[in-house]
Amino acid sequence: MILDTATAVAWIRRAYELVRADEARLTRLDTAIGDGDHGANLTRGLAAAEIALDEKQPDSAGQALITAGRSLISKTGGASGPLYGNGFRQAGKELREEGDVAAVADALEAMLRGIEELGGALHGDKTMVDALAPAVAAFQTSASATLDLHAAGQAAVAAAEAGLAATVPMQARKGRASYLGERSIGHEDPGAASTVLILRALAEVTAP
Ligand code: ADP
Ligand code: MG
Repeated sequence: MILDTATAVAWIRRAYELVRADEARLTRLDTAIGDGDHGANLTRGLAAAEIALDEKQPDSAGQALITAGRSLISKTGGASGPLYGNGFRQAGKELREEGDVAAVADALEAMLRGIEELGGALHGDKTMVDALAPAVAAFQTSASATLDLHAAGQAAVAAAEAGLAATVPMQARKGRASYLGERSIGHEDPGAASTVLILRALAEVTAP
């Protein structure tokens, strides 16, 4: 299994479906510790990404992710749009034509770096990084052990879910949730929740 152009496009489409189906939950999480727009923001951004992919017909997996990233930057809004958008752009640049499991591990690493560099969030700041960083590490470990894109994707989802759960007792130090101080404690971070969905979409479209 490789992440080729069609699979990369399928990843974005599936991410859109999963986010749209869970829009209300993402909004509820963002209502608790933010401004209640995360579900709507990301649904709008991924819808725009899907339209852009239909129009552009990318000729490589990397180009598909870069196209999606651009749409996320221009149409998602909020903090998450530029962060996910830059993440997908960096992943696409790293991936280029298409990638085997090791290349996808490198692309996910580039996505994480892109988000960290733009947002400046560290581990434990209660952001999407708290789901994505352990997921990328788990993907890499599984990738080396199994050489299996789907298995690595599933390992990443499990680690992202654990990372999401770990955001509950954290106090936010980045984004709007940080304005709440200690009142941000006791809730899942919405961006960490959407990261689980994005990675689940990758695991699903790479199933044999
Ligand atoms: P906004 O905060 O502008 O309303 P969204 O609601 O779309 O944007 O997204 C909020 C999510 O973005 C948060 O739950 C968090 O995961 C993520 N986030 C916010 N700021 C940062 C940052 N500096 N670095 C990484 N992630 C961040
Ligand atoms: Mg918000």
